[in-house]
Amino acid sequence: MKQLLILSGKGGTGKTTVAGAMVRLAEARACADCDVDAPNLHLVLDRRDKPETADYHGLPKASVDDSTCTRCGLCRDICRFGAVEQDGGFRIDARACEGCGLCEVMCPAGAISMHPEVAGELRLFSDEEQGVFSTARLKMGSGTTGLLVTEVKKRMTKSAKDIPLAILDGSPGIGCPVIASIAGVDMVLVVAEPSVSGISDMERILDTVGWHGPVRAVCVNKSDTDPEMTGLIKLRCEEVCVPYVGEIPFDPEVVRIINDGLTLADAECPAGDAVRSVFAEVMRMLGEEDI
Ligand code: SF4
Ligand code: SF4
Repeated sequence: MKQLLILSGKGGTGKTTVAGAMVRLAEARACADCDVDAPNLHLVLDRRDKPETADYHGLPKASVDDSTCTRCGLCRDICRFGAVEQDGGFRIDARACEGCGLCEVMCPAGAISMHPEVAGELRLFSDEEQGVFSTARLKMGSGTTGLLVTEVKKRMTKSAKDIPLAILDGSPGIGCPVIASIAGVDMVLVVAEPSVSGISDMERILDTVGWHGPVRAVCVNKSDTDPEMTGLIKLRCEEVCVPYVGEIPFDPEVVRIINDGLTLADAECPAGDAVRSVFAEVMRMLGEEDI
């Protein structure tokens, strides 16, 4: 299975809009939303089938047995995350606890134990017509997003073994979930925004991907909102030898199209034409021209 990942250096560039269009154009029967903090590709793709869900357990959390605790205060003094609260007895703030287990080892009364905690919900959509779509929702205040993204990808590949092409929507930024989403993919398409910060964000994400090896390419979304910056992005791509695969103009119709449950690929407008051209170039680079 070849995997195409869509990334951007920050949110709001239109990454998910482009990812949705790529899924539609490729008629991809395997896809994943790795943006577990704010997943919304299922909305863009208008998935209405019921997903199979499963709890995702992240790092364990400490808890204090009040009946055994001698109130010595050691756990509060040694926890470097400030997760132990004193309120009459001693309690753990689960949102602050990083699950390091130090307090459990050090407690002289053996009053602390570690328990797995649900950190998110894995969701797997799968139907005959639309294929497999894997995603997850991170529980508020939970960490371990990188591990959750890895699990999302595993569930997609396991459920769609014989599918030749998968399309993944990544998280914005350059953090843990992005690194996890890059692992094992064949190509990364960066959606850049034509602004000074957009160029900086694009460079950061290209550097991040560069360490991991998949083929890289860049397209610009809302390119006509600042043609000068779009030109600079193109130039920068030439300088760092990253293929520039096209630009998508701003189109107010796009919002209406997406709200109607369609994707940019379904749009008969300059933005729709542009995304089809970007798609064709990306498929050529992936060696999937026949799609
Ligand atoms: S270290 Fe153990 S005994 Fe001491 S306050 Fe914490 S839970 Fe209680
Ligand atoms: S497990 Fe670690 S982070 Fe959590 S309360 Fe204990 S010492 Fe603090």
